[in-house]
Amino acid sequence: MPAAFLASIAFLTSVAFSEDRCFKGAVHVHSGRSFDSKGTFEEIETAAQKAGLDFVVLTDHQPSRKDQSVKKMALLPKTKTLWIDGAEVAPDKKHDFLVLGGGATNIQWEQGREMEGIKQAKEKGAVIFLGHLARARPFDHLELADGVEIFNPHKSAAGFLAQIPRFTHILISHRKNLDVLWLSLLDPPRKEITVWHRLAREKNLGILAGNDAHQNIRIFGSLLDPYEQNFRFVNTYVWAAKLTEESILNALKTGASYVGFPIIEEAAGFRFKSSGGRLVADLPAGTTGEIRLFKDNRLVTVRDNASSVSYETREPGLYRVEVWRRVRRKNRPWIYSNLLRVP
Ligand SMILES: [Zn+2]
Repeated sequence: MPAAFLASIAFLTSVAFSEDRCFKGAVHVHSGRSFDSKGTFEEIETAAQKAGLDFVVLTDHQPSRKDQSVKKMALLPKTKTLWIDGAEVAPDKKHDFLVLGGGATNIQWEQGREMEGIKQAKEKGAVIFLGHLARARPFDHLELADGVEIFNPHKSAAGFLAQIPRFTHILISHRKNLDVLWLSLLDPPRKEITVWHRLAREKNLGILAGNDAHQNIRIFGSLLDPYEQNFRFVNTYVWAAKLTEESILNALKTGASYVGFPIIEEAAGFRFKSSGGRLVADLPAGTTGEIRLFKDNRLVTVRDNASSVSYETREPGLYRVEVWRRVRRKNRPWIYSNLLRVP
């Protein structure tokens, strides 16, 4: 095994959480700079505050629209919430890159030359996540990737078509109750997780949930995806020393993050770490759930009604935890931990 690989293993398993704080944010957010959203920065900020977010990562589609409204939105607001700028770049229909930080929006994005822009952004310190794992081809550019988007509320096109009868029923019954509607979108991202495991065998990857928020879906006259609703649905939680762009992005790429669904219950404070030959998962203070431990994407142990789990690792592998809870007569995923590589 090459030395560089071993060094990165040690790094991932020794992520120190003790000094750090848990911050929560919405990543993969679109504003009016994207062709498919009219959202303003004020609307995003108001929603972020109401949802209790610490940070928001914008990823407007690039190349972006070039009209006046976009120029007016060039400067991110300076507010209580940390705003990090980024870009979503899809060089063709097969690939999707989330380019976070690194002056991603100062790059001269040109149609047909997106890959050059992505490489340029990475040289300037951007963190690259592969998006839409269920429908994109993340395998082609693994060398560029720092991490993967393991959840995105927008289902693949084929999946969506198959689900039209189910969604129509839900829409008609629950369009006045958005929580119920959104809860029905909470399918476990099995395909994304399979892809993630496959890629993680090759290299260490951070994870995030894509909110993919646009505030642009209107059916029967009702807005179904206001920013606040989306931000209260799924979040990316990051253990970091401080709330700065550098610190948050560094935590994302070094594996100090997890995915949680506050629509089930607030998930801040969850930890999954290795210590002294054991893996330990601690749920947020005062909560319990069904904790499922996986090795190489196979379930190895389950503890119901538990607030923590400690597991002795005798075999090398990629370990992770899912926490499930029963909400509205159904078991639903609540937390997805990062992978810990046991050498
Ligand atoms: Zn998007």
